[in-house]
Amino acid sequence: MKIKKSKVVVVGCGLVGSSTAFSLVTQGVCDEILMIDINKERALGEVMDLRDTIKYLDRNVKVRTGTYAECGDADIIVITAGAPPQKGQTRLDTLEVSAKIVKTIVDPIMASGFDGIFLVVSNPVDIMAHYVYKLSGLPKNQVIGTGSALDTSRLQNFIAELVNVDPRSVYAYSMGEHGDSQMVPWSTVTVAGKSFQDIIQDNKEMLGEVDLDEIVKKTTKEGWEIYNRKGTTYYGIATTCVGIIKAILYDENRIIPVSTLLEGEYGQEEVFAGVPTILNRTGAADILEIHMTEEELGKFIDSVNVIREYTNKIL
Ligand code: NAD
Repeated sequence: MKIKKSKVVVVGCGLVGSSTAFSLVTQGVCDEILMIDINKERALGEVMDLRDTIKYLDRNVKVRTGTYAECGDADIIVITAGAPPQKGQTRLDTLEVSAKIVKTIVDPIMASGFDGIFLVVSNPVDIMAHYVYKLSGLPKNQVIGTGSALDTSRLQNFIAELVNVDPRSVYAYSMGEHGDSQMVPWSTVTVAGKSFQDIIQDNKEMLGEVDLDEIVKKTTKEGWEIYNRKGTTYYGIATTCVGIIKAILYDENRIIPVSTLLEGEYGQEEVFAGVPTILNRTGAADILEIHMTEEELGKFIDSVNVIREYTNKIL
């Protein structure tokens, strides 16, 4: 008898990759983590630091450095290698550098016989996820971008703050591009089942005029607000990655707005975009196609068109 170990590979041991590994270790999510970086010393340094946590944790997650040749039996490979946008750049400006980096990673991983799930984090994430899908030749359910999952967490925080409830009681999605064109289908937002529009209507005195566009803008800009203060962001995205990894490894059927290939959903074809998706052991198992108003759908399509335009530059 052989009990299979759960194995996650993190490629790119910078701030996002190492924070993801830290979160996997402290939450005891998998049996083994392999850390890979072009900068081998950096990867080793992160591994050594992560190992020092074990004595004080509930689980002994084995962390070590590795090579692409050892990826064949991995369950999930998280790609966080990239060139984060510098001041004044958008995520889309990093497209060409990121694409070059991603190609040097995916080719040797596929040569190892890998048949698990890619979780792409590197920006511009929707386009990089599509690129990994093309390069790998894996079925679409096995390639996932983090998409608008992090933006959704930010959005839920803002709504929760406004109505003074726990963000986990807010059901809202940011959708489309993980970038400036993302949108929120407000007609579908609820707080524990009560429509947000009714909440605004019923609590006019307490809430006053609620500027929904301003909330979308704040959600979109939150990454930059953090960037301006600390130079980068990583706890939010690392924890988002771990939420997605748990949904997959534990076969949760949890719905998270990740970037996945649209094939007719929302009238869109052949494009990766952030949409609510059912995640389980097969990866992106299915898309939950929510009903939007015509105006919302128009905004979603505009956002998808931005992704499509940039995707066409590299595919
Ligand atoms: P970082 O500069 O701290 O780390 C990047 C790491 O990638 C470095 O350790 C570098 O050595 C490694 N690397 C570069 N080229 C490589 C290659 N060819 N092979 C293997 N490793 C390579 O950057 P970071 O802050 O960790 O950000 C990483 C990526 O994540 C960026 O693209 C950033 O924009 C993205 N990001 C995405 C989200 C999201 O929501 N999707 C959020 C935050 C950051």
